[in-house]
Amino acid sequence: MDFKTLDAMDVTDKTALIRVDINVPFENGAVSDFTRIDAILPTINDIVAAGGKAVLLAHFGRPKGKVVPEMSLAQVRPALEARLGKPVAFAEDCIGKPAKDAVSAMKPGDVLLLENTRFHPGEEKNDPMMAASLAALGDIYVNDAFSAAHRAHASTEGIARLLPSCAGRLMEAELKALDAALGNPARPVVAVVGGAKVSTKLDLLGNLIEKVDALVIGGGMANTFLAAQGQAVGKSLCEHDLADTARTVMDKARALGCRLILPTDLVVAREFKANAPSEIVTDCPDDAMILDAGPESVAQIVDVFKTSRTLIWNGPLGAFEIEPFDKATNSAAAEAAQLTRDGTLVSVAGGGDTVAALNRAGAAKDFTYISTAGGAFLEWMEGKTLPGVAALEA
Ligand code: ADP
Ligand code: MG
Repeated sequence: MDFKTLDAMDVTDKTALIRVDINVPFENGAVSDFTRIDAILPTINDIVAAGGKAVLLAHFGRPKGKVVPEMSLAQVRPALEARLGKPVAFAEDCIGKPAKDAVSAMKPGDVLLLENTRFHPGEEKNDPMMAASLAALGDIYVNDAFSAAHRAHASTEGIARLLPSCAGRLMEAELKALDAALGNPARPVVAVVGGAKVSTKLDLLGNLIEKVDALVIGGGMANTFLAAQGQAVGKSLCEHDLADTARTVMDKARALGCRLILPTDLVVAREFKANAPSEIVTDCPDDAMILDAGPESVAQIVDVFKTSRTLIWNGPLGAFEIEPFDKATNSAAAEAAQLTRDGTLVSVAGGGDTVAALNRAGAAKDFTYISTAGGAFLEWMEGKTLPGVAALEA
């Protein structure tokens, strides 16, 4: 990967247009989680400290090209000011006169937030006119929104082609971590792919078996693989129509020398609810469903972790939201955390439920990198080119 970082840019007295992700959750009219805001502070602070003018470009919600007052970024401004510890000016449009006037009024070290880029239809269409209107506001472009980089929009892709561009601190950290996990990883590399369904993760499996040395398949999607091998899965979540696909993945893995690890013992229950009576079996009874991997499977996974140098993880190993079916996920996560603390493993994880599961397990803080990027992380794991990143590399 070859992209410029802030270190390569002269920002003093320059107007830096910074694409950020501040699509933050709200509860009772106030921002309820500051993670995304805190994550962009290093970029803003570095630009401000160097005497640059920081102009923030962002979307909020899905207004679909129209002005929707409930999706105004003005609501995010107080939280931004609080976390940044300084005033943030606001322009009620991200292009045109309101934006130009607000930028003209800035002094070095000032911060300005522009209104929701998605209020204009040109944003999501990556309209060259929209990109040009945005680019006209500044001297350089800084992309700090990896989580929006899988979309070729005017504020993520078009603008990068018009101004000297670089990655912000958050984007830089994310790209470096991802490169260390799949681009140029220390080997052996093990991937864990779990979660509910095979159908949502086919591209992911296809890409990973080409790149990793061992692939652990867990969660509901493992059932589809077990069934494809002729094993009984009872009433488990299982995509029987994907049996051929699962067999193709297994054949391809064998041909490529990628070791596939499926559960060998299963935790089954008759009901999908917390503390439902459960048992550990090797064959799932007809009236039961598989809700987690058993202790023997976990021991095998832990063994693989111990001999690996890099771990990349998406998808829980069981129905982790309900006890005791969070056990395999928790145990494997705790081991990955320990090996990371010991310095023998580089561990990278991402995905909405995966991040929730690793937080629940108390393991997230010890992972080398946890991606909160969601869709962009998955597309990157699928081996797809992210337009927002490609535009920085150009
Ligand atoms: P992510 O959001 O991290 O990409 P997924 O959405 O693919 O992860 O998968 C998470 C979901 O998979 C969770 O809701 C979890 O309960 C479910 N799941 C995992 N194992 C099973 C299972 N054996 N049976 C039913 N659901 C499962
Ligand atoms: Mg999910």
